Amino acid sequence: MDKEPVYLLDLNSEELKALVVTLGEKAYRADQLAQWIYKKSAVSFDEMSDLPQGFRSKLQEAAVFFTLKPLEDKISCDGQTRKILFQLEDGQTIESTLMFYENTNSGRERRTVCISTQVGCPMACHFCATGQQGFVRNLRPGEILEQVLYFIHLIKTTVTTEDRELARKAITNVVLMGMGEPLANYENVRTAVQTLNSKYGVELGARQITLSTSGLVPQLRRLAEESLHLELAISLHAATDDLRNRLMPVNRKYPLAELIPACIYYLEKTGRRPTFEYALFEGINDSAENARETTELLKGINCAVNIIVGNPTASNEFRSSSLAKAQIFQKHLFAGGIFNTIRVSRGTDIEAGCGQLKSRWLKDTNSQPVK
Ligand code: SAH
Ligand code: SF4
Repeated sequence: MDKEPVYLLDLNSEELKALVVTLGEKAYRADQLAQWIYKKSAVSFDEMSDLPQGFRSKLQEAAVFFTLKPLEDKISCDGQTRKILFQLEDGQTIESTLMFYENTNSGRERRTVCISTQVGCPMACHFCATGQQGFVRNLRPGEILEQVLYFIHLIKTTVTTEDRELARKAITNVVLMGMGEPLANYENVRTAVQTLNSKYGVELGARQITLSTSGLVPQLRRLAEESLHLELAISLHAATDDLRNRLMPVNRKYPLAELIPACIYYLEKTGRRPTFEYALFEGINDSAENARETTELLKGINCAVNIIVGNPTASNEFRSSSLAKAQIFQKHLFAGGIFNTIRVSRGTDIEAGCGQLKSRWLKDTNSQPVK
């Protein structure tokens, strides 16, 4: 008889307690178990030395712990970005990236993990390598969480630092900016983020977790009402419906007149200032007129714009704008009173842009992106 496996990382603290009790143990064992998973970065039941051997054997039989297998592991030339292509239990693949930032404004080192929330993506943005792969399935909460735990374990076992707080946490930030649209996998993303944020779990502050969305308005409004108060990034990329419709099909369903009020609602409910991401593509959305439209759209809103020098994708249609072009765009925004920064994509030598490594891997192995 095949029983559905219990995936440990899918469970919140109550569910973990219930499992432990079902296996005939006292509820407090769940706290010990969570400590091993989330604080001590265990990777097997064997390591959990203060749990009775009998209990560990029962867990081994009843529960599945880690499921991700690294297929490719690439480190950028400057050593600051590391990208891993993971294989999931069903053979599907996703990407996650670790980024080190040494000289941040706060003077503290930042270590950010960029994670995926879906295999592929249903939103089909034309400039995005993931969007062009189609949609396969949602990730389970545990598959989302495990990407973070993998990097925490990797850092703890390979990187040394004098900073005790940094050594304890291993990573400082998580961004949901890998493959997939997080708000299209709402429940699973929420469960994973709650464990990332909770005392029982990874204990990352909500300010250290950023959710990026292409703009699913109803889910964005729902997120505003959660107690999570995550940092929010919106993939804007165009400031008129005409242009945005051409780049991002989601805009036809939720146009700017609905998206912008939803972002303001998020700000009002959570106090988190949204960041609008604007990737510049040569001759498509990078003109002075485009900058003026962006200023017009965002004027008076307490927000920031992140200008991104776009990553080239397989399609010839979207080529990155030059840094000089980005700087001109930036000047226009500043002149219009819009706070902004320029982000130069990290790890382009290791295909660290969204969906790029997977696209190449699919090509090399002649795999089909969609089942
Ligand atoms: N689906 C979510 C989060 C994942 S995409 C979203 O769209 O927000 C993460 C970021 O990468 C988004 O801002 C997305 O617009 C951006 N992106 C996708 N393709 C890109 C490209 N070719 N160049 C630069 N940024 C890109
Ligand atoms: Fe999906 Fe985001 Fe890529 Fe659009 S940009 S296809 S929403 S991953």
